[in-house]
Amino acid sequence: MPSILKEKGPEELLKKYHLRNTDCRVKILESFQQFDFALSQGFLEEELKHSFDRVTIYRTLKSFLENGLIHKILDNEGGIKYALCSDDCSGGDHHHSHVHFKCEVCGQTVCLEKSTIPDVKIPKNFLVDEVNVLVSGICGKCR
Ligand SMILES: [Zn+2]
Ligand SMILES: [Zn+2]
Ligand SMILES: [Zn+2]
Repeated sequence: MPSILKEKGPEELLKKYHLRNTDCRVKILESFQQFDFALSQGFLEEELKHSFDRVTIYRTLKSFLENGLIHKILDNEGGIKYALCSDDCSGGDHHHSHVHFKCEVCGQTVCLEKSTIPDVKIPKNFLVDEVNVLVSGICGKCR
């Protein structure tokens, strides 16, 4: 089932998530909807360099992250990327536990929403914050 985050217009989404409508929020949501791979802050800075500075972009990403519109993806090179969430994320609670795939040729990272993270055995006294599973290889477009 496609996420409403990919189908509804940016203005409508901001309203649904009780976020004030700003130009930067609209533009960044549009970028996430336009590209079918995860976006880094650097990529968005490059895309929107004529319109917004990096602090505004950083703050916008932070507010999307805290409100359940996007989730964080850790890269195998220490970078961070973001992708739109599925419908059931709200507030700071992210419920999806899918695997991500990073292509070593084009460098793009995508959500594999149908692949769930296997049950990871954690020592009883440990507290889990987040689990990241990244599969790397060559994507269909690059093969
Ligand atoms: Zn989420
Ligand atoms: Zn690729
Ligand atoms: Zn994802």
